Amino acid sequence: MTEDGAAAVAAVAAVAERIEAERDHLTELDSAIGDADHGGNMARGWAAAAEAARDLDDPDTGTVAKTVGKTLMSEVGGASGPLFGGSLVFAAAELDGGVDAETAVAFAETYLEKVEDRGDARVGDQTMVDALTPAVHTFKKSIETDDLPPIEALAKAVDAAERGVAFTVPIRARKGRASYLGWRSVGHQDPGATSTLFILEELLAVAADRLGVDAPETDATSPTIPDEDPDEGASEDD
Ligand code: ADP
Ligand code: MG
Repeated sequence: MTEDGAAAVAAVAAVAERIEAERDHLTELDSAIGDADHGGNMARGWAAAAEAARDLDDPDTGTVAKTVGKTLMSEVGGASGPLFGGSLVFAAAELDGGVDAETAVAFAETYLEKVEDRGDARVGDQTMVDALTPAVHTFKKSIETDDLPPIEALAKAVDAAERGVAFTVPIRARKGRASYLGWRSVGHQDPGATSTLFILEELLAVAADRLGVDAPETDATSPTIPDEDPDEGASEDD
């Protein structure tokens, strides 16, 4: 197996374990503004994805990503299955030529684009997009503008996602089940944004582990709200 492929399989296993550990937490968040299935949906999907990834014979990262995406599409269900899974299948092609800073940015951007296409949500709609958008923009900016090593760019992306999750609390849901609640969705943290953050945290942990370094400190205490444009409004500590 390629080094990258082995890291990808390890990352999927780590995500599955984390999501299983957070199952009740995610379900609790979804019971406040949804139908209390996000923890179960995600735990079932990621457990199946980890198994499917483990069963691959000598895969590269693109193949792992595609397999995980397909499995999530068929196993997660709900609104989030096609968003997480379908977008991953599509973005996986960006990794076919191998994983480096450039293809990682392309992967992240394509994934976000697909989530936006499929779900039609944007920042401020109280969905996973609120965590994903600032994470992807920050990752891209950290690599292309600030010239940071990918692992540090990923740590910045995790920070940005964490701020994005916090940002979902005081706003009103405009997409997905939570939007049926209208103003009553205000004051609740979005489950899909939260699971997106957990996935990114595990990717960071596995990447750091593979590089043999400590995961760079993440620090989401900066009060910045998610950036719409990666070239503007960077937080002071970026
Ligand atoms: P369901 O809402 O069908 O029960 P889940 O509970 O698994 O599905 O997932 C809910 C999450 O999906 C929400 O917290 C939100 O982050 C995300 N979501 C729902 N609709 C959309 C959408 N149109 N665009 C982006 N994300 C969405
Ligand atoms: Mg739900």
